[in-house]
Amino acid sequence: MLLYNTMGRRKEEFIPIAEKMVGMYTCGPTVYNFAHIGNMVSYIYWDVLKRVLKHGGYAVKHVMNITDVGHRFDDAEFGSEDKMRSAAESQHKTLREIALFYTAQFAADAKRLNIIPPDTVRNASDEVGGILDLIGKLESRGYLYRLADGEWFDTSRFKDYGALTGMGFAALNESLMAGARVERPEGLRNITDFVVWRLSKPGETDMVWDSKYGRGFPGWHIECSEISMKYLGNHLDIHCGGIDHIPIHHTNEIAQSEAATGEKFVNYWLHNGFMTVDGRKMSKSLGNVYTLQDLIDRGHSPLAYRYLVISSHYRSELNFTFKALDGASSTLNRIYAVAENLSDVKTAGGADPVFVEAVRALSKRFYENLNDDLGTPEALKSFHEIINISNQRMSAREMTKSEARAALDALLEIDGSILALNLSERVDGVVLTPEVATLLKERERLREMRDFEGADKIRGAIRDRYGIELVDTKEGVKLRKAR
Ligand SMILES: [Zn+2]
Repeated sequence: MLLYNTMGRRKEEFIPIAEKMVGMYTCGPTVYNFAHIGNMVSYIYWDVLKRVLKHGGYAVKHVMNITDVGHRFDDAEFGSEDKMRSAAESQHKTLREIALFYTAQFAADAKRLNIIPPDTVRNASDEVGGILDLIGKLESRGYLYRLADGEWFDTSRFKDYGALTGMGFAALNESLMAGARVERPEGLRNITDFVVWRLSKPGETDMVWDSKYGRGFPGWHIECSEISMKYLGNHLDIHCGGIDHIPIHHTNEIAQSEAATGEKFVNYWLHNGFMTVDGRKMSKSLGNVYTLQDLIDRGHSPLAYRYLVISSHYRSELNFTFKALDGASSTLNRIYAVAENLSDVKTAGGADPVFVEAVRALSKRFYENLNDDLGTPEALKSFHEIINISNQRMSAREMTKSEARAALDALLEIDGSILALNLSERVDGVVLTPEVATLLKERERLREMRDFEGADKIRGAIRDRYGIELVDTKEGVKLRKAR
């Protein structure tokens, strides 16, 4: 399998440290707000990566952190802000309550996108003891210095600092000088230096810990070094994240981890590209920040969004538009329709070896495409080619039941292992499409207005148009295939 390693900036053959076992770390969310669809892109791509590794026969141990303390966002315009603390203050809640609420929301979104949860998820605030031990190692090795607001890492003392960016130390400092950091504490040695332990301000009593460095809390980057190494060992196979983490967050993770252990930290660094909306950066002021729930409220299936993301390569910039999402929804429905039609083929007869072999070759190519640095766009082409040749054969009424089974098995295997678009539910049961969801909502509205005649008309329309029977139960309406 080939993977593009940001460290060195080239595709490399993937060789795990231990045979058949892969340690993989992804930076988790900072849980001060609902995740937007751009946040979820990363997790969809790394889910595909994990599935490809598993399909390739590897056992994958996947670890992720939850940032519930210590992350300051630097903004050129508004300065530096601890958004966890701001959210807690404005909502009159504790940091833990804020974190629990948004962590649950994040997990729910991930579930709706069929993202396999990590094996280990750890909150930064639950790992402070280990973080302090790690800071102690850095201190004893002479990497830290003290400023009025806490303990800082002297990046000039770490050999090859910034290697991940491909820039030298001076160039990296210069580029950050021009960038966002606005608050420069007095005595800062290098613009790239970062805090590992921040002293709490007077009155800050939530999520602060006493330590030999004084009462405070960890800086942002140190939690990822601690959590990744604690649960995966000092040397891990794969570390993933968004491209925006390269110059600061991941660069600092490397510096801390390697400074503390003297060992290589990560073999393969994978980064996904940015997502824009209508060609522009997502921002509150542009009003183009959407959550997964916003897409659902507009009648889209979360899986249409998953499909849309996968149809773009993880390293390219993904431009989200509602038109593109509409396109993904239609494609998804077409996939479902063809799978359903295949499951309905009843024609007896043998299987044409040429057709069966074509399906087998396309299926093989699908996985080969993925093994080339997660080539999802090409892999989807192979997948759609199976659909196309099946459809042609069904249209020409040449498809036998055993051929249809071969094609359907290939599609189900691909979907079950990698795509995760719930194809099997579609074939065996009924999946709620956005169109039917809209009709169901309308029917619900009519029933609430006691317009039962109108509601029954919709029930009939759903049966006639989509072949779906509505069954009203105590738990609400259930769907099943009309017979
Ligand atoms: Zn991280």
